[in-house]
Amino acid sequence: MDKQFDVIIIGAGPAGLTAAIYATRANLTAAVVEEGAPGGKLVKTYEIENYPGIKKIAGVDLAIELMEHGLSFGAQLESGTVEAVEDDGENKIVRLAGGRVLRGRAVIVATGTRERELDIPEAQRFTGRGISYCAVCDGAFYRNQDVVVIGGGNSALEESLYLTSLVNKVYIVIRRDQFRAEAGVVDRVKANEKIEIIYKHLPESLVIEDDRITGIVLKSVEDGSLKKISCAGIFPYIGAEPSTSFLDKSLLDEQGYLLVGSDMSTSHPGIYGAGDVCRKDLRQVVTATNDGAIAANSVIRYLQKH
Ligand code: NAP
Repeated sequence: MDKQFDVIIIGAGPAGLTAAIYATRANLTAAVVEEGAPGGKLVKTYEIENYPGIKKIAGVDLAIELMEHGLSFGAQLESGTVEAVEDDGENKIVRLAGGRVLRGRAVIVATGTRERELDIPEAQRFTGRGISYCAVCDGAFYRNQDVVVIGGGNSALEESLYLTSLVNKVYIVIRRDQFRAEAGVVDRVKANEKIEIIYKHLPESLVIEDDRITGIVLKSVEDGSLKKISCAGIFPYIGAEPSTSFLDKSLLDEQGYLLVGSDMSTSHPGIYGAGDVCRKDLRQVVTATNDGAIAANSVIRYLQKH
């Protein structure tokens, strides 16, 4: 028989786990559905320095704390990939890959974003073999070697700083002459002797010898000229896309982000959003946890009326 809950929270990152705390402390039954490791993007983040009350913590440690806390009032962790969310008038029906079904009186979508993949020839074939989207997981493979980081946002710059503790040199490649990251992080990057910044270039192709990456070819956005950088590893941090493919398009903006109001409600009664998956200006751990609390509170009120 299908499992029935008051609320089904899709995604076990900071937003989903916070929603779980608030929902279960209000005595709702809650499932938290997650397809990977609980903790969301935290698991792939070296350090968090801007979560109030904790001056510095490894991303994975905060992920573990959040998971333990999020499940401590009775929320049930359900492993699986959500393929669709439907509504039969009484319940939301959450369909998982493999045919499993969960039923909930309300749903909170907290699926976050997925990293945008490098789109140059052969990039997919070399993912995990020279191309990595997780410096914390794979940085040690490039100890004392040169690596290239692509992108100028907070992720690219913070993970570059982390990589300098392991590798010989980090080239950061950005396509403009300006970074998107916070000014303080940019200053730390510019002051780091192990980092060289290459402005106004885009990745063009991989240099492959003996079936392994030995470099990358960059193309100038100004004059189209090409330059080759020797490196053993490439870490693209070129932004992210919302994980919303399982949702009805009418709930999303043109880029696929979930449209929510200030109470985190979507245009579909009983379906709420929280965290990075929502259209918003600031994507941080603290804004995700904030959304999770508000979404759960809105669900509590919704269920009192329905
Ligand atoms: P982001 O802020 O969107 O930055 C993406 C970077 O990649 C930009 O420099 C962008 O260049 C570049 N880029 C995009 N597409 C590209 C392409 N096809 N080829 C080459 N470069 C490309 O992404 P993010 O760093 O992953 O951050 C995502 C969100 O999480 C942001 O809201 C960020 O503030 C937040 N975050 C916060 C923290 C923190 O507070 N500690 C840490 C990590 C992430 P342009 O600038 O030219 O578009």
